[in-house]
Amino acid sequence: MKRLVILGGGESGVGTALLGKAKGYDVFVSDKGKIKEKYKQVLIHNEIEWEDETHTESKILNADIVIKSPGIPDKVALVKQIHEKGISVVSEIEFASKFTDATIVGITGSNGKTTTATLTHHILKQELNVGLAGNIGDSFAKQILEDGFENYVLEISSFQLDDIVDFKPNIAVLLNITPDHLDRYDYQFENYINSKFRIAMNQTKDDYLIYDADDEVIMNHLKNNPVQSTLLPFSLEKTIESGAYLDNDNIRLTINNNEIIMPTANLTLEGKHNIKNAMAASTVAHLLKIRKQTIRESLENFQGVEHRLEQVLKINKVQYINDSKATNVNATYYALESMDAPTVWIVGGVDKGNNYEELFPFINEKVKAIICLGVDNEKLMNNFGNMVDVIIETQFMSEAVKIAYKVAESGDNVLLSPACASFDLFENYEDRGRQFKDAVRNL
Ligand code: ADP
Repeated sequence: MKRLVILGGGESGVGTALLGKAKGYDVFVSDKGKIKEKYKQVLIHNEIEWEDETHTESKILNADIVIKSPGIPDKVALVKQIHEKGISVVSEIEFASKFTDATIVGITGSNGKTTTATLTHHILKQELNVGLAGNIGDSFAKQILEDGFENYVLEISSFQLDDIVDFKPNIAVLLNITPDHLDRYDYQFENYINSKFRIAMNQTKDDYLIYDADDEVIMNHLKNNPVQSTLLPFSLEKTIESGAYLDNDNIRLTINNNEIIMPTANLTLEGKHNIKNAMAASTVAHLLKIRKQTIRESLENFQGVEHRLEQVLKINKVQYINDSKATNVNATYYALESMDAPTVWIVGGVDKGNNYEELFPFINEKVKAIICLGVDNEKLMNNFGNMVDVIIETQFMSEAVKIAYKVAESGDNVLLSPACASFDLFENYEDRGRQFKDAVRNL
């Protein structure tokens, strides 16, 4: 019996454990932190051996295959030891995909993965038997075991891609590449770019790569490192013969001379970035032969995902918007760009070495007041202090929202789009977004 060791007892680890056990592996789950009670119960119930708050090296180094949670960096001593012993270390998607013949849509990028994966799934599920997995909801491994979908839409992070060997999506989507997570890539942007492009590394000409042709990082990399995949670009700026582009106010999407036209005015999601996300999602749907009418209707009734430019409430004609998931400058760039009214902007948290310069034009044009909320307020004050009349700092969400309420006038927006991580004052970005919404509802 092959010994499968799973490092990390979260959603993907426990799902992999179940799949591994069902496929006849001798499974051991080990987590340096605490495994959540609900996952412990699943492991116990399924008679899978596990440990938490420790790693028993002798057991781990005795594995035939190690599945590593994407959260664990390669630099960790134990992982180095595993590599040195020549044990194969793979990610959940690599392992799990061996047990399904389903058509796989893999979506990656620095920003927009969850939105685009959810939107793609929303369109496909109207006509296909399709699961949504990756960083969203139930793990891919568990869904293969329990649901057996014929198609999967997977949200795939660069960390997952780092540990693939043979995995390939039939349709890959590469939304954009901007610097992020560089601490995991030796502070070399190039390493992170290479990691993202692994989504296409096993593809052949029968597979598709859908990508943003306006993204210079992607275009440069493709020019110097051609891929085998059939290319289907999308663009807001240029005309695209095979793929999607913006033709005045319409998305025009052509695959094999089969064209579909979608008016952007009908999209429920706001912002240029969401036109791109819609282009990517509808290209997938068109490839998978979803009816044109279904694609159009699905784009028109998609409600978006919580914490991503989520419209919370309108109070005294002021619109409150929760974009707590904007944990980097690029996401906030698109949020500010999409603002169509004077904006009171709540920003801040843990600064990840941010360069705020690209936001400056929007500050001049649209932002009337800035509320800095987090540990790194000083840098924000230094960057934006001279650009707006009102700039205030606080360490409390409720206070930030109260200040915004006072400053905002009829017709304005109040936007929470932090451009920073949330771990200073909040558990995570969801907690930050919920606290914002609660504070708004308490006004
Ligand atoms: P991810 O799963 O990659 O983190 P999300 O869909 O959760 O992406 O969105 C994260 C943040 O990025 C949100 O603030 C969202 O409004 C913004 N965003 C969404 N799509 C894009 C895009 N294509 N380009 C840039 N920012 C985007």
